[in-house]
Amino acid sequence: MGAQIIDGKAFAAKVRSKVGEHVTSLKADHGITPGLAVVLVGEDPASQVYVRSKGKMTTEVGMKSVEHKLDVATSEADLLALIDALNNDDSIHGILVQLPLPGHLDEDLVINAISPAKDVDGFHISNVGLLGTGQKSMVPCTPLGCLMMLREHHGSLSGLDAVVIGRSNIVGKPMAQLLLGDSCTVTIAHSRTKDLQDVVRRADIVVAAVGRPEMVPGDWIKKGASVIDVGINRIERDGKNKLVGDVDFASCAEVAGAITPVPGGVGPMTIACLLANTVTACCRANGLAEPEGLTA
Ligand code: NDP
Repeated sequence: MGAQIIDGKAFAAKVRSKVGEHVTSLKADHGITPGLAVVLVGEDPASQVYVRSKGKMTTEVGMKSVEHKLDVATSEADLLALIDALNNDDSIHGILVQLPLPGHLDEDLVINAISPAKDVDGFHISNVGLLGTGQKSMVPCTPLGCLMMLREHHGSLSGLDAVVIGRSNIVGKPMAQLLLGDSCTVTIAHSRTKDLQDVVRRADIVVAAVGRPEMVPGDWIKKGASVIDVGINRIERDGKNKLVGDVDFASCAEVAGAITPVPGGVGPMTIACLLANTVTACCRANGLAEPEGLTA
């Protein structure tokens, strides 16, 4: 194996510790405790796990954590009323509505009801527009985590060829915008891309956000490239359940210069960036300087 393994777990711990330091000084110097509200509708098991660990880590860095668990049959009007109340609650600086929502609820309507300043997931249409035009915004957590790891590894990303595989609103598109913001030459690939391997082979940076187990083999990767694997795929191998990414880790690690593992790469960075976004939102709401190194 030639590649440096980018340890997302260790990096996420560093980000959380930096967030914790800012929380401590916000409390001590200004008497402000950043607050994050997470709203879960229904009982989707995976969502319940995510919400629990978000709440635990929020408390661990010293922030106020509020969880609203609503019945699966909650009406749109009731959910919107809760979001309105949270928008107007000065002790809450970040609001996250756990997706996916049950089918009878309009996700776009619900997300766009969150105050953009408290939209710590960065999915509100205003934040999407601000990011797209290079203005200060709330940045989606997963791509922000990927960007932080790439900056840490490369220093400057300026002029590098980057390929993002996947064009979803939550990962692929914002990732591409962030890389463009750091002056990469960016290609967005998707299911209709012709000759994907040739496109990937040109890249100094490959971000795979597809949702297909081990789809990218090592012989697609340029020697020395950085490979960021966003995919989380549960597969069965040798009679055991296993978590794998969108790239074939073993063969990609032979040629890449750096690579994130699954698990232990991008995943831990996502929650760390949610906490970072909450502190950033709190500082902005109070007209205070933003923490350095925790935003795009
Ligand atoms: P989506 O399903 O929304 O998007 C997948 C994208 O991959 C689409 O743009 C699709 O193209 C593209 N795609 C599908 N098949 C191919 C193919 N054969 N070749 C090229 N492109 C293809 O997924 P998400 O963006 O939400 O998530 C992607 C992965 O990242 C998933 O495994 C998910 O679990 C994981 N994830 C991990 C997170 C973390 O914290 N680590 C957070 C969020 C997601 P098209 O648009 O043409 O259909």
